[in-house]
Amino acid sequence: MQEYVAGIDLGGTKIYAALSDEKGSIIVEEKVPTRSENGIEYVLNNICSTVESLQQRAGSGSRLKAVGIGAPGPLNPETGMIYQAPNLECYDVPLADYLQERLKAPVLVENDANIAALGEFTFGAAAGVHDLVYITVSTGVGGGLILGGKIYHGISGAAGEIGHINVDPSGPLCSCGSSGCLEAAASGTAIARRACRLVQEGRGREILNMAGGDVENITAEHVVCAAAGGDAEALVIIKDAAGMLGRAAASLVNLLNPAMVVLGGGVINAGNIFWNPMKEEFHRHCLKKPLEAVKVVPAGLGDKAGLMGALALAVSAGSLQDH
Ligand SMILES: [Zn+2]
Repeated sequence: MQEYVAGIDLGGTKIYAALSDEKGSIIVEEKVPTRSENGIEYVLNNICSTVESLQQRAGSGSRLKAVGIGAPGPLNPETGMIYQAPNLECYDVPLADYLQERLKAPVLVENDANIAALGEFTFGAAAGVHDLVYITVSTGVGGGLILGGKIYHGISGAAGEIGHINVDPSGPLCSCGSSGCLEAAASGTAIARRACRLVQEGRGREILNMAGGDVENITAEHVVCAAAGGDAEALVIIKDAAGMLGRAAASLVNLLNPAMVVLGGGVINAGNIFWNPMKEEFHRHCLKKPLEAVKVVPAGLGDKAGLMGALALAVSAGSLQDH
């Protein structure tokens, strides 16, 4: 009988699920809208029916060995309980138990940033690298640590919150209540917010043009486009955000001496206007020894990192069972 595992990347807007073999080769995959506005019961059912429909497509002669799922944190990977995921409007949800009962296979849960790090470690840019820092910059800034070949969770499962490293005590207020966190200063949301302020002060013409003349429409992508076209004001915004990311990465490298820093998320597509100032600040603040040993590379799996990490997690659950 053919055996396979299921991986699920549960996001605020979409559920991305796949079945794969033990090597992570995908057999069938599917993306469906999460529809979190319908409530958590609906979302849980939606996850299970997506996996069930994949199972049907894979054929009846096969057996589901294990399930891995990445969900917006914070959560407890040991109990598989999501404490709080505001995007999904759910609190204290026994995610693993629910899925286990319905799908009749062991279920492992990880937060989305950790699982993306696991994906890059198992199948992506950091394959075979046992000590790595993964940082993803999109609407927010997330991160995961793989140390000694394993996800580092910390004592209460909250490790890897790279977005809340303080880069500027007098900086903007963060969603966590502190001010000057990396996320508040360098995320896509922060970049767009700074550009909006500029436009409201009567500057940032080129950025405003990119957004079709409507300040409400401005996103980080518009700022990147304006900067790529040589606009000086947009370049300063990107340079500042990249520099803060570089400084935070340097602190992590000085602390952990990893072999690799993997950068993911939309911002890595900005090219040299982002990478050059990031690397400049990174080099300036890194100590010599860890700097000599570390490689800073773009993520290799794109928006599949979470899914591939979920599959890797499921494979590890499956092989644990065998022993
Ligand atoms: Zn914060």
